[in-house]
Amino acid sequence: MADEARLIDLDGLQGLIDALGARGYTVVGPTVCDGAIVSAPVHDVDDLPHGWGDEQDAAHYRLRRRDDDAVFGFAAGAQSAKPVVFPAHELIWRGRRTGTEFTVNERDADGPTAGPPPPYALLGVKSCDLHALAIHDTVLLGRGYTDTRYAERRAGSFVVAVTCTDPGGTCFCASMGTGPHPDTGFDLALTELLDGGPHRFLVEVGTPRGAEVLAGVVAPPAAASDVAAADAVVAQATGRMGRTLDTDGLKDVLYASAESPRWDDVASRCLACTNCTLVCPTCFCTSVEDVADLTGDVAERRRVWDSCFNEDFSYIHGGSIRTETRSRYRQWITHKLAAWVDQFGTSGCVGCGRCITWCPAAIDITAEAAALRWTPQPAAAGS
Ligand code: SF4
Ligand code: SF4
Repeated sequence: MADEARLIDLDGLQGLIDALGARGYTVVGPTVCDGAIVSAPVHDVDDLPHGWGDEQDAAHYRLRRRDDDAVFGFAAGAQSAKPVVFPAHELIWRGRRTGTEFTVNERDADGPTAGPPPPYALLGVKSCDLHALAIHDTVLLGRGYTDTRYAERRAGSFVVAVTCTDPGGTCFCASMGTGPHPDTGFDLALTELLDGGPHRFLVEVGTPRGAEVLAGVVAPPAAASDVAAADAVVAQATGRMGRTLDTDGLKDVLYASAESPRWDDVASRCLACTNCTLVCPTCFCTSVEDVADLTGDVAERRRVWDSCFNEDFSYIHGGSIRTETRSRYRQWITHKLAAWVDQFGTSGCVGCGRCITWCPAAIDITAEAAALRWTPQPAAAGS
């Protein structure tokens, strides 16, 4: 933990929210809504989930009351940062017919993308989700074609990360090397300290922009004892992950499992509901929809999230190539844990555990990967 760290209390956290608001950021952070931690605009420190934690297991999510007043005392919520910087629905263009003219506008004055997107300050981003943002940066910015809308949102976004102090039952970021302490990709990072002393947050500065914002907040230098307390929080959280994923040789295990009988087993449980892909902070597949209004005068092209669990997703001329659930699950997990490494240089999984928590059939990527490792492969033809 950085020696030059600073310290803020709850008033300082309010000061940070105010400083971001004064710079024109829409601050989006964790709130309690409909029995879950969900992302929403945050104006006041009291908007945060004071005293709320969660219970998470396969197909299980419940809020629980904590016995302290932690404001970041929960694991990964239902949403990551993905919907903010890579929305589920996005207008690509809108066309209008006027007489014999047809005009296409990328930024329609009446449309949802009118003008450049507002700058967002993402408050309370966990380390797993920071790594997921970095993966999206690689996929959407770092290759031949840049996603311009994503680029605008990312360039304008300010990230206040937070150490995950109370990992959930489905978390396994420690075994993926992606948490629980934010190590990169933030402007500021907070570690909440509730060790019997005053309720406070150790603040690490990640960028000059972060230092500039913090300069307007009462944030004295942290004492060595505060830094040690934060280190202890990280060590304790690392030891309390609900799950682990053995990544040793995992890519080869997946590639060798193309004909594993395990795919039939998981297909007998999987509903192909797409939940796992929608909650996953790294999934980025989309489709395009063209719609017209009833007058025939306005047409739109929209980009919408899609999923490799949809049969239509693999439609090419003549039909779908993955008509069975077994092949769609195989595609998803093989891409996540094997092909992604070859494509983008990292695993496609950051260990957030959301696909386990929000799978209605309680299918667990860590259990499936372990099962594939130990399931005998069918004998090769002719052997
Ligand atoms: S693995 Fe679970 S969440 Fe994913 S499609 Fe199948 S049933 Fe739905
Ligand atoms: S595959 Fe599951 S655990 Fe991994 S990043 Fe996606 S949602 Fe999180």
